[in-house]
Amino acid sequence: MSDTRLAGCCALCDVPIQEVTERVPRDAEGMAGHPLRFGATLPGAKRLTFVLASGQIANCSFCGDCDPQPSDYPALWRRILRAHRLESDNAQREKLRHGAGQSIQDLTEAQQWVHLQTWLAMRDDVPLGVIARQAWSEIR
Ligand SMILES: [Zn+2]
Repeated sequence: MSDTRLAGCCALCDVPIQEVTERVPRDAEGMAGHPLRFGATLPGAKRLTFVLASGQIANCSFCGDCDPQPSDYPALWRRILRAHRLESDNAQREKLRHGAGQSIQDLTEAQQWVHLQTWLAMRDDVPLGVIARQAWSEIR
């Protein structure tokens, strides 16, 4: 397991759960080789909904083999926070894109402020348990 959740991959084990249609060029700095654009969700992928200590909920995607247990939550949450912070990092703005093809540099200042506030709220929160499980094949 890497120390940062990888886009398009299982949040726990890094196995791809979405087709990768484009990657960051190998000669790019920082995120070279990381997925940039995504296609269809792969069979077996599922979405788990966590309830957080604040009462908020958070959706997270996993491969068909992973079923995160409470003992996995601290490492899982750290990986998610690192990924979210990386997406906010100015140095990565030109390299990272979200699934819909929208680059973070395309976000307005107001949207970037929301992104930062979301990260700050997540940093002070922790997942308590899973309240829903859904196969991505049933969602899309
Ligand atoms: Zn997995």
